[in-house]
Amino acid sequence: MEDNHKMSRRQVVAGLGTTLAAVAVSPVFGGTNIEKTTYEGAAKISDPTTLHPKPPFKSQPQPWPGLQSKMDPVPDCGETSYKGSGRLMGRKALITGGDSGMGRAAAIAYAREGADVAINYYPTEEQDAQEVIALIKKEGRKAIAIPGDLRSEEFCKQLVHKAIDGLGGLDIIVNNAGRQQSINSIVDVTTEEFDATMKTNIYAPFWIIREALPHLPPGAAIIGTTSEQAYDPSPDLYAYAQTKAATMNYVKSLAKQLGPKGIRVNGVAPGPIWTALQISGGAQPEKQQMFGSWTMLGRPGQPAELASIYVQLAAADASFASGQVYGSSGGVGQP
Ligand code: NAD
Ligand code: MG
Repeated sequence: MEDNHKMSRRQVVAGLGTTLAAVAVSPVFGGTNIEKTTYEGAAKISDPTTLHPKPPFKSQPQPWPGLQSKMDPVPDCGETSYKGSGRLMGRKALITGGDSGMGRAAAIAYAREGADVAINYYPTEEQDAQEVIALIKKEGRKAIAIPGDLRSEEFCKQLVHKAIDGLGGLDIIVNNAGRQQSINSIVDVTTEEFDATMKTNIYAPFWIIREALPHLPPGAAIIGTTSEQAYDPSPDLYAYAQTKAATMNYVKSLAKQLGPKGIRVNGVAPGPIWTALQISGGAQPEKQQMFGSWTMLGRPGQPAELASIYVQLAAADASFASGQVYGSSGGVGQP
């Protein structure tokens, strides 16, 4: 009986992670082995309609790919808010587009959950990237910066090997980088633009996963950032929206292919999120200023609000989640 009690106490604490302020375990009750866990203080709840900035926003176009540190308001990627609880202790993650937006939110959260993290970004984003590197290091985790252009197959191969060498292995890949350029008419979509969108959003994840697969252990997780655009495309996002449908689709086919190897593949489908992608050509100026006004919360999401989803899909306790796409879009959109 005493042994059972000790084991279940250890399991409870391990399951909750390492940074909880206080965990009190009551004695066995009701003649069963079920134990009651209590926490100090109440969980904070907030009204999501007033939690983050609302439109209208200032007009603030930047050349592609944009720097989020120059945005007003600066996107909230959880820098001061995300609290970890050891959910990814010892894990090794590669995140593309880890300098800003959702990738940055995932990188910060992963480091605070105990993972070592390599981030890729476009070389002109060094300023945003160095902020993320500093935040990861502050957690005492390895932080590997790997700038380069994902439109190159050769670079994607090097990226995987630099990440594996720098981290000493790899068990989480977040294919998050994306190119979105708003163009009203298909007549104005150049072959170069179409090609750049396909290369960044479809080829790069293919090149990265293919190169990394022989090195991924059972239990590894692959996460793709798709979009509500996969399901309900905007007329000005002809090229982009179809790449997000492709992402949703590869999540589902690869989940079937890699399931027997013990590798899970899932996707995140954000709605309108306040990031550099939108102000560097991703949305028309009028849409930028009223960005997110059409959601049921009357505002765009902030990357920080999706961080826990990237954590959940990577975490070992989500062991039966594969081939799923998790939406986060303020009450509109799909899935
Ligand atoms: P973001 O601009 O902060 O991040 C996108 C990143 O992609 C850039 O930081 C850049 O590092 C990377 N990137 C693009 N082209 C690259 C290239 N050729 N080489 C290397 N890196 C390159 O914006 P975000 O909104 O956080 O974007 C992250 C993902 O979220 C993208 O896949 C995007 O399609 C998706 N998404 C965004 C929204 C939104 O409203 N912001 C909605 C749905 C999906
Ligand atoms: Mg960026």
